[in-house]
Amino acid sequence: MSFCRCIVRGRDLLQGVRRIPAPAWTNRFGVVVRSKICARCGRSFDWRKKWEACWDEVRFCSQKCRRSRPSELDARLEHAISTLLERRAAGGTICPSEAARAVADDWRPLLERTRMAARRLAAQGEVEITQGGRVVDPDTARGAVRIRRRR
Ligand SMILES: [Zn+2]
Repeated sequence: MSFCRCIVRGRDLLQGVRRIPAPAWTNRFGVVVRSKICARCGRSFDWRKKWEACWDEVRFCSQKCRRSRPSELDARLEHAISTLLERRAAGGTICPSEAARAVADDWRPLLERTRMAARRLAAQGEVEITQGGRVVDPDTARGAVRIRRRR
């Protein structure tokens, strides 16, 4: 199914359409693809046979994410991102490290968690993740990213 998803994503990007996560959507072949956003890492993941009986309750993409479920610190990181963006002029961006710094003095170990928080907020439609001023897919973006309020 990842093949189909790539095509749909590519088409969405071409049309400038933001990918809004939904429990189910139809790809270009008319196949219903069920996917969710992981409550931990904020990446999308697709339905799997092993989740047939409990798909409604599935919240995490992997064992790793399930073991390290979101904590109060993750909520604070999300809050820091929102607060910093509110203070920024319209269209302004922040670096994930700014949000991490707002939460802890020892902020470097929090960078990946901050990126996860940004992905979750992007999935909720609150923010966009950009590289070089262009919105990128939070699932696949590599390297330095910036965060801005959704336009
Ligand atoms: Zn995950």
